Amino acid sequence: MTGTLFTDVRIFDGSGGGLFPGEVLVRGTRIAAVVRGDERLPRDGATVVEGGGRTLMPGMVEAHGHLTWPTSVERVINTMKPLPIETHMLVTAQNARITLDHGFTSVYSAGSLGERIEPALRDMIDAGFMPGPRLRASAMEKGAEGVLGVPAGHDPTHQRDIPHLREYIAHKAVEGCDTIKFLMSSDEAFQPGGSQTLMYSEAEAQAIGEAARAAGIWLACHAQGAEAVKRALRAGFRAIYHCTYADEEALDMFEARKADTFTAPAVGLLWARVHEAQDFGIGPAEAASLGAVRGIELAQAIIPAMRRRGIRVLPGGDYGFPYNPHGRNARDLEHFVNLFGFSPSEALVAATKQGGELVDWDVGQVRAGYLADLLLVNGDPTADVRILQHRDNLAAIMKNGCFYKAPPQSSDLR
Ligand SMILES: [Zn+2]
Repeated sequence: MTGTLFTDVRIFDGSGGGLFPGEVLVRGTRIAAVVRGDERLPRDGATVVEGGGRTLMPGMVEAHGHLTWPTSVERVINTMKPLPIETHMLVTAQNARITLDHGFTSVYSAGSLGERIEPALRDMIDAGFMPGPRLRASAMEKGAEGVLGVPAGHDPTHQRDIPHLREYIAHKAVEGCDTIKFLMSSDEAFQPGGSQTLMYSEAEAQAIGEAARAAGIWLACHAQGAEAVKRALRAGFRAIYHCTYADEEALDMFEARKADTFTAPAVGLLWARVHEAQDFGIGPAEAASLGAVRGIELAQAIIPAMRRRGIRVLPGGDYGFPYNPHGRNARDLEHFVNLFGFSPSEALVAATKQGGELVDWDVGQVRAGYLADLLLVNGDPTADVRILQHRDNLAAIMKNGCFYKAPPQSSDLR
């Protein structure tokens, strides 16, 4: 029987327990068996990968992905507007490959710069025509009114009334979107005080939720102010990002719905705006006026409070800005440790097991029956999550049971 057997590895299985020595057998696209300690699995014709004592862990999940946002660690494209569509599709495919190169085997989209790019990309990746993560694909992120030439009261994708909102959502499901991203609030980065500006009425939010349930499509949103968070919760949104100004009532409501609702603060972007955006014209004063300094301070209070309530808070940092490129995604784990008080192991659980729960595939755990999305890592990320930021430390990357990046000693697997 064929397959791949990992031996001489220390396993982080996604559950948050410590590393344990063991063996993992992969057959087809899935993990067939996991054993601990000195127990040995039958080889039965499987290709044996000698791990050399490295860590074997689940592939990571990016919970707030924007693959269409142009900039990556390989090239800066200094704009956040749509490129010519032919260019934009190819740049997005490149960003998908770079995301996988850096150990992220699944992405939940937090919105696109094109209506059809992500479903098309997902289908190409799934068919094996190009490398990239598993993708929960979105349509265009609904633009904030008053930003990028969108006049107030105007939605760039359809007429702004409830019947057209419903029609739009049904149509996006037909086009193959898994999720749609709405801006329930504006943002300090768009306009002073924007975080408290609501973009959809209660009736509109309820109609969005009903239409999405009817169409079998998930909802994600940008929600800064407390009322935006509550409105999204009442409407049944799955991924409610930021939550920077959530109050006690919003936290109570979130906790009540924590079984099927997630958040990601997207702090990577704020961090980059404050510390690394000078070359792009954002100095300390601009970073403060865009709300990034205050945003980090507030997140440092709200995120630990959400975690204490058992709300799943996931890494996912709005990568793709010129100063916050794709490929840097794993740095969010370091932010979770340094800013929010997660232990390295807790940050890893959020990036693997809980990320798997968000995308709702059998991923994010090293567990029999789960899909074989695995990383073989030099060193111990439960001691220092920063090692995941360097792709050279990813000795092998397996997705869907196949090596995307083959382990170094297995020349027969290349
Ligand atoms: Zn975003």
